[in-house]
Amino acid sequence: MTTSDWRDCRACPRLVDFLTTVREKYPDYHAAPVAAFGDENPWLLVIGLAPGLHGANRTGRPFTGDYAGVLLYQTLYDFGLASAPVSQDTADGLQLRGCRITNAVKCVPPANKPERAEIRRCNPYLTQELAVLAKHASLLALGRVAHDAVLMALQLPLSAYPFAHDARHELPGGQYLYDSYHCSRYNTQTGRLTPAMFAAVFARLTADRAAQVASIQTGSIHV
Ligand code: SF4
Repeated sequence: MTTSDWRDCRACPRLVDFLTTVREKYPDYHAAPVAAFGDENPWLLVIGLAPGLHGANRTGRPFTGDYAGVLLYQTLYDFGLASAPVSQDTADGLQLRGCRITNAVKCVPPANKPERAEIRRCNPYLTQELAVLAKHASLLALGRVAHDAVLMALQLPLSAYPFAHDARHELPGGQYLYDSYHCSRYNTQTGRLTPAMFAAVFARLTADRAAQVASIQTGSIHV
C-alpha cells in the first residue's frame, strides 16, 4: 500500500458502506479516507482515532471542522507548532511547523467507533507514516486506540507499553511515544482532559525536543 492508495481504498466494507450513505446525505462532504496534514518532515507526529463525521470527514483535514480540533490546534499554536490557533478548512492557509497530524483509521466509522478488524486493516498506512519519520521524531497518541495502533504498527507488545495519560514511553531505537487522553468534546467538556493537562503533555514533549536538539548539536546523539 502507498499513501496514494488512500483515496481509493475500499478495504473495510462496513466503512465503505457508511461513506456511501454519508455521501448521499451530505453531497458536499469530503466523505473519503482522510490523509495526514502538516509538516512533511515533522519531529512530532500526532495520532488520533479516526475522522469525525462532521469534522475531518466533512473538511478532509484531520481534527478540522468539529469540536475535536479546538483544543488541539489552540495548543499547537500556543507551543509554536501551528501558524494559527484554529483550523477551519483546507483553504484556510494554516501551516504546521515540525508537526504532522494523522489518524489510526483513515475513514469515518459509525458512532466514532472503528472495529478492531478495521484498525488492523488500516494499520499498514500508519506503519508507512511512521517509517518515513526522522530517526528521533516523537509520537503523540491521542487516546488508547491510537496508542495501541502505534504499537501494532511498530510490532511492539501492548503489555510492555501501557497507555496512561501523560505517559512517556521510550521505544526501541530511542523514539518517544507520549500519551494523552483524546481531546474529544466528551473528554474536554467533562473535564477528563483539561487545557492545562493537555498543555502539560506538550510542555514535556517540547522540552524533551529542545534537549534532543541540543544533544544533536553537541554531537552526543546522531540523527
Ligand atoms: S479505514 Fe483504512 S483500510 Fe479501511 S477502507 Fe478506510 S483507508 Fe481503507
